[in-house]
Amino acid sequence: MIEVRDIVKRFGGLVAVDHCSLTVGKGTITGLIGPNGAGKSTLFNIVAGFLQPDDGSVLLDGEDVTSVSPHRLFRKGLVRTFQIPHELARMSVLENLMLVPAEQSGENLFNAWFRPARTRGDEARVRERAEQALETLQLTHVRHELAGNLSGGQKKLLEIGRTMMTDARVVLLDEPGAGVNRTLMAQLTDVIRTLNREHGYTFCIIEHDMDMIGELCDPVICMAQGHVLAQGSMAEIRSNEAVLEAYFGG
Ligand code: ADP
Ligand code: MG
Repeated sequence: MIEVRDIVKRFGGLVAVDHCSLTVGKGTITGLIGPNGAGKSTLFNIVAGFLQPDDGSVLLDGEDVTSVSPHRLFRKGLVRTFQIPHELARMSVLENLMLVPAEQSGENLFNAWFRPARTRGDEARVRERAEQALETLQLTHVRHELAGNLSGGQKKLLEIGRTMMTDARVVLLDEPGAGVNRTLMAQLTDVIRTLNREHGYTFCIIEHDMDMIGELCDPVICMAQGHVLAQGSMAEIRSNEAVLEAYFGG
C-alpha cells in the first residue's frame, strides 16, 4: 500500500534518513522500531508529506505521491495523527470528533466552494458517525468531558478517533504508547486491532513498547542510522544479531 523507495533526508550535514526502502502492506499493522535518532519520525513526516526528501520516492497504491501535500494525501486516505491542539482541549470529546469533517472541507478552497451548505441532515450524519467512533474507542462514557481533561491514553484514543471521522485507510502512529498507563495501553491495543480487523485500516506504528509491538505488529521493521536493518516477525527481530547490536552494541 505504501512503498518507500531509497529515501534520503539530510538536515545540514546530518543524514537522518539514508537510502531507506520499505513497504507497508495493505491490511497489515506494520511496526517500525529502532534506537532513538534512527530516522523513524523523519521518515513518517516524509511519507505523510510534511517533509520533502532529498532523494527517493514514496508510492501510495502504486501512485507516486512524493511531492504531494499533507492535505491531499489526507484526502487519498493517508493520515498521521497529531496531538489534540490547544484550542480543542476546551471542547468536549464529542465536539472534537464532530469538528473534523468541517476542518477537512475548510482546508481547501475547491472543496469548500463545491460543498453543499451544511444541513441538519449533514449534522445528524456527522453526529452518528462520531457516536459510532466513540463506541469503538470505548470512550462513550467521557463524550461530554473536555478533551483537555482526558488522561494521556484517552487523548491518544481521541487522536485516533479523529482519523475515524475521515476516510482514512492507512494511519501512521508515532509512539501511541508514550506516557500511557497499563490499562489504557490494553484498550489502545484493542482499538487498533479492531480498526484493523473490522474496519479495514492499515497501520504503521512507531513504538518503543515491545509488548505492544509484539502483540499487534507483523511485520516488524527495525531501522538504525537512517536505513532498514532487518524486517520480520517480532520473534525474528528479537533474535536478529544486527538488531541486538543496534540496541545494545557499543
Ligand atoms: P527517531 O524518530 O528514530 O528517534 P528522528 O527521525 O526524530 O529519529 O531523528 C533522526 C535524526 O535526525 C536525529 O539525529 C535527529 O536529531 C535529526 N533531526 C530530526 N529532525 C530534525 C530537524 N528538523 N532538524 C535537524 N535535525 C533533525
Ligand atoms: Mg521519533
